[in-house]
Amino acid sequence: MIGRFAPSPSGRMHLGNLWSCLLAWLAARSAEGGMVLRLEDLDPDRCRQEYCDQIMRDLEWLGLDWDGVPVYQSRRTELYRQAFHALEQQDVIYPCFCTRAERLAASAPHRSDGVTVYSGRCRALTQMEREELLQSRRPAWRAQVPEQEVAFTDMLQGVFSENLARDCGDFILRRSDGVFAYQLAVVVDDGEMGVTQVVRGSDLLSSTPRQMWLQERLDLPHPEYGHLSLLLAPDGRRLAKRDRDLELGQLQERFTAPEIVGRLAYTANLIDRPEAVTPQELIPLFSWEKLPQKDLVWV
Ligand code: GLU
Repeated sequence: MIGRFAPSPSGRMHLGNLWSCLLAWLAARSAEGGMVLRLEDLDPDRCRQEYCDQIMRDLEWLGLDWDGVPVYQSRRTELYRQAFHALEQQDVIYPCFCTRAERLAASAPHRSDGVTVYSGRCRALTQMEREELLQSRRPAWRAQVPEQEVAFTDMLQGVFSENLARDCGDFILRRSDGVFAYQLAVVVDDGEMGVTQVVRGSDLLSSTPRQMWLQERLDLPHPEYGHLSLLLAPDGRRLAKRDRDLELGQLQERFTAPEIVGRLAYTANLIDRPEAVTPQELIPLFSWEKLPQKDLVWV
């Protein structure tokens, strides 16, 4: 079994990232599995090497280790290009020329989680129209999804299912500036790195059917998935990079590493009191049944 850390180096890690990293590590290590580290630094506008270095120092500071060398997505463009090409061969990709405003106008009503489903407007373009538009605009590239129900059993959330066409719509594989999209890169990398267990926040639950569909198209195995309840800020907000007070730099001024780990482990129901503990000491205490299924507020 191989688990993974997949942080986005667009800033310092916050409490929510620590929560996912600790539990992903415990899930893998308690099953005597491997753990790999992948820095998801595809967006050149947001990601920086110094953030990558900081994330690795922070993981080490917490007592979380990984096997082998860290993998940087920014150095793996060739792999994504090959996968993109394979999808092109299957005729499930098309160029999308919509601007942001057009995209919003051409999208179906908002889903309950605020995500819009792309209408497929550019899917209907003829070959001639496409060629003409390609002269003057750089398109984004979308996967053309079928009317297909994709279901899986999540280790924490139970059965989850989505109809690709209705609930996701045609999604972006490559941005108009040439950057490969998260959905494609994550599938290629999980496959290529031999990841068999994905543990991450439940904000990514609805990306999973898309990723499973891509895995099938690319002949990659499905890993098992565990989507963790989210850790919320004291006032119930979702944690974001801008929440500086729950960022690791700030937390380090108030707590030692075993104190932070202990509080996270207590929140995860792995220990009875929020006492200082190392990740290593938690290994025998980890079990999926103990983990909370509802979102939690950090206090
Ligand atoms: N890089 C993503 C994040 O930091 C996680 C992606 C994943 O776990 O699939 O939110």
